[in-house]
Amino acid sequence: AKRAGRGVVRVFDESMDESIRFRRQIEGGLSQAIARGELKMVFQPICSHSDLEVTGFEALMRWNSPEYGPISPAMFIPIAEESNLIHELGDWALDEALAMLNQWPGQYVSVNFSPRQFRRTNFVGHVVERTQHAGVEPNRLQIEITETAIFDNAERAADTLYRLRQMGFRIALDDFGTGYSSLWNIRRFALDCLKIDRSFIDGMGRERESAAIVHSIIHLGKALGLEVVAEGVETEAQLQALRVAGCSHMQGYFLSRPVDADVATRLAEQRHLM
Ligand code: C2E
Ligand code: CA
Ligand code: CA
Ligand code: CA
Repeated sequence: AKRAGRGVVRVFDESMDESIRFRRQIEGGLSQAIARGELKMVFQPICSHSDLEVTGFEALMRWNSPEYGPISPAMFIPIAEESNLIHELGDWALDEALAMLNQWPGQYVSVNFSPRQFRRTNFVGHVVERTQHAGVEPNRLQIEITETAIFDNAERAADTLYRLRQMGFRIALDDFGTGYSSLWNIRRFALDCLKIDRSFIDGMGRERESAAIVHSIIHLGKALGLEVVAEGVETEAQLQALRVAGCSHMQGYFLSRPVDADVATRLAEQRHLM
């Protein structure tokens, strides 16, 4: 390899180094981020379609790095997920989210758990312990997982979800429709809520296929007694189309962006959007 096209090989190696170095820097920054107070949680309202009552909030992590400025969780969560950092970040996020429940009159908080968190030893015991520590009822915590979390060990995932649900926690399947064997999953697992992936809502007005999929998920959810949340509602037209389709709950920029804790508490007290 050294002899054949030295220059090309070196450029390739350097760009590899570059991306590895960048990941290491992100990892290093993240490992300090909690202690340095660079992380915060924001909260996006989830509303009922009928009267825009705020029934819950999804908790979303934000990182303002002194080196890089604001970095999207879509970028740093996967890096944390590849190391043990995800546990530290996830525990912090869970505690922050649970603490909000004492400020809100009755809404739930929906917390994202990455596959690695979900698969950790004694995940159930851990969630129970943090919830008790916060002094809140389990039914006010919704655990959001994606199909990836349950894909590789379905037997164990089914057991975990069953036990969580027995204890009163709410379970939501996030990004529904984008994973493997979605239908099989909802038959098999103890769930409360399906969150229709944003890509289907986005396509609804343009493609017959997306609209048909959205309608099917809503009907399926209803038939199975699940709450259905449409994610990424950005326009009035989408809101109306979802109303007509009989969607029970919605979340998206058209209703509200994710907001800081104090604004979330004001919306929670006010109870209705707009
Ligand atoms: P997600 O769980 O699918 O979260 C929804 C994402 O869609 C959020 O992006 C939210 O801000 C964004 N969103 C909400 N409404 C709209 C809309 O109307 N239009 C558009 N274009 N986007 C909308 P965010 O906050 O950047 O988070 C990205 C992903 O990072 C999340 O996707 C989730 O997978 C992950 N994430 C965020 N916070 C956490 C966390 O605390 N723990 C874990 N494990 N993952 C997290
Ligand atoms: Ca989510
Ligand atoms: Ca989602
Ligand atoms: Ca997503």
